[in-house]
Amino acid sequence: MKFACVKRYDDISSALSEKLTIRLSGNGFTYDDENPDYVFVVGGDGTFLKAVHRYMDKLDSIAFFGIHTGTLGFFSDYTDKEFEEFVSNFLNAKPRVCEYQLLKVSVDDKVHYALNEMRVENVSRTQKIDVEVDGEDFERFSGTGLCVCTQLGSTAFNRSLNGAVIQEGLPLIEMSEISGIHNRYYRSLGSSIVMKEDAKIVFKSDDFSSAILCIDYLTYDLDDAKMIKIELSTKRVKILRYKDVGYFKRLKSLF
Ligand code: NAP
Ligand code: MN
Repeated sequence: MKFACVKRYDDISSALSEKLTIRLSGNGFTYDDENPDYVFVVGGDGTFLKAVHRYMDKLDSIAFFGIHTGTLGFFSDYTDKEFEEFVSNFLNAKPRVCEYQLLKVSVDDKVHYALNEMRVENVSRTQKIDVEVDGEDFERFSGTGLCVCTQLGSTAFNRSLNGAVIQEGLPLIEMSEISGIHNRYYRSLGSSIVMKEDAKIVFKSDDFSSAILCIDYLTYDLDDAKMIKIELSTKRVKILRYKDVGYFKRLKSLF
């Protein structure tokens, strides 16, 4: 069996990652950065996102397992103080494999995948976006931008936009406004909206110049884009779970 480690660049995460590599190597596992069967993530939820994007083309054959240096995270059930339990569970116990769907974001012909959210943001001028859902015209948004998140991403950027937190197990999509303008010239829903898992959202604009597409922590210029399609993809991330940490315990550790 082959494994790789993705760590946050702080002393605790680096030390843990080194300790883990030694322990696994002594138990018949081989370090393989290119084609791992298991990817160990040592750090925070942000580190987890980086690990998933690092192996985006190989998600089918990889299981992720994380240790959170800090508090509990959404992607991991172990803190750095529980290192022994973490290793022992991995080597001896049978995991539950939890799968999380990614968002598929198509900009004209280019496809991106997001685990938390996609955002269109324009900080230099009012961005107009015509939004269609399931082939029907829905609204013309005007403002800084729009955010579309997954259930997993509902506690990330979406929460800062006052979007609802979505409980685990509900494979829904949520769209929230980023500083929408609501006055006598501009009108859009204003509130966040939660949609069915098979909703197909389309953003169109005559002018996306100086707008940026954010895919989790990655950013791309949208200058010449015409149309952005957003839907849940069939691509999934597999996370190993050994402990039954309830959703609300995880959620509470966030604030
Ligand atoms: P980052 O520093 O890696 O993450 C920013 C914060 O968001 C960190 O505290 C991170 O937790 C937390 N986070 C990430 N995914 C989460 C999730 N699914 N549920 C709850 N908290 C989560 O920032 P980055 O590399 O620029 O961007 C990564 C993600 O951070 C983005 O996808 C976005 O959702 C989020 N973010 C949010 C805001 C905001 O709320 N205004 C701004 C920038 C980015 P850890 O400390 O455990 O890593
Ligand atoms: Mn965290």
